[in-house]
Amino acid sequence: MIKFLDLNKSNKKYENQLKKEFSDFLDSGYYILGEGVGKFEKEFAEYCGTKHCIGVANGLDALTLIFRGYIELGLLKEGDEVIVPGNTYIASVLAITENKLKPIFVEPNPNTFLIEAEEIKNSISSKTKAILVVHLYGQLVDVASIKNISKDLLIIEDSAQAHGAINRDKLKAGNVGNASGFSFYPTKNLGALGDGGAVTTNNLELAEVILKLRNYGGLVRNNNELKGINSRLDDIQARFLSVKLSDLENQNIRRREIAEMYITEIKNINVLLPYWDLSANHVFHQFVIKSEKRNNLQRYLLENGVQTDIHYPIAITKQKCYSEYSDLDLPVTFELHDNILSLPIYPELLDEEVNIVVKLINNFDLDL
Ligand SMILES: *Cc1c(COP(=O)(O)O)cnc(C)c1O
Repeated sequence: MIKFLDLNKSNKKYENQLKKEFSDFLDSGYYILGEGVGKFEKEFAEYCGTKHCIGVANGLDALTLIFRGYIELGLLKEGDEVIVPGNTYIASVLAITENKLKPIFVEPNPNTFLIEAEEIKNSISSKTKAILVVHLYGQLVDVASIKNISKDLLIIEDSAQAHGAINRDKLKAGNVGNASGFSFYPTKNLGALGDGGAVTTNNLELAEVILKLRNYGGLVRNNNELKGINSRLDDIQARFLSVKLSDLENQNIRRREIAEMYITEIKNINVLLPYWDLSANHVFHQFVIKSEKRNNLQRYLLENGVQTDIHYPIAITKQKCYSEYSDLDLPVTFELHDNILSLPIYPELLDEEVNIVVKLINNFDLDL
């Protein structure tokens, strides 16, 4: 069986270093906001090229706290509109609605899966205050062109799938907008051994507010300036993340190597490959193909020993919790949700295994 993901294999490589970190952590006696968090925040800010990084409990909190931070700073208020792709993970939208802001769903380019300036322009109203760009599947949104059409709008990045993606101007995910949310959920390109997340930004005021919000609204014990929450990055996870961050570049290179194999070798007129310019602006958190016979293809691959997945099978506006948006017509988004299929692309996947997947897909017949 070729697994869709093999987290045990992924983390086993770092076994000795992870065990050493745990041992140091145990000995330290500080289990919340100890040395590990500050060290990782510094390293991750440096990696992303930003001035600030604030560790939080998970990716959803990172995004939610960015919007909350801007509300505290007076730059956003209840009812303001935030543009967001129709085809994203639900966390992107929850971060908006949790803050009583209004999501405005925009259709993506069906070849890149990403939102673009032209489509966004048509959705901007006098109430629009921010754009949440999602670097979906690991590929950077072209933020430079979006900035040209939206000079007064905040650009917030959902970088949960794009750790390390870098554009032509050498800017990394997390450093192309005003602020960015990252997730370190175990399956992400940079994954902890539990939950974790972070905010990156170059804005000192925002960084300071989020630093307070994540820890009951204050920096000094028993001094609560804001009605904060408890959303701290776990110290042991921060230590594990420091270990894995040092190998992230290699991991992303291997993901791109596998993507290139898929792109050059998959040849089947019933299967559409994702657009990629072969640059490092993609870190292939997912390798997503399209087929009108997606369900048949998925079943055929599984019967032949290959696990795949779908990111994501149901559009957000069709989820029960967002029934108020159930009448929205988003044909591009809906078609994607019906046709997409994610192939295995974790760095530990062997070339032989990639070749097996390629051969199976090339032999896939619509009648199967
Ligand atoms: C994983 C993910 C999140 C949420 O991260 P959690 O750590 O699971 O809260 C947000 N947005 C996107 C695009 C994601 O893939």
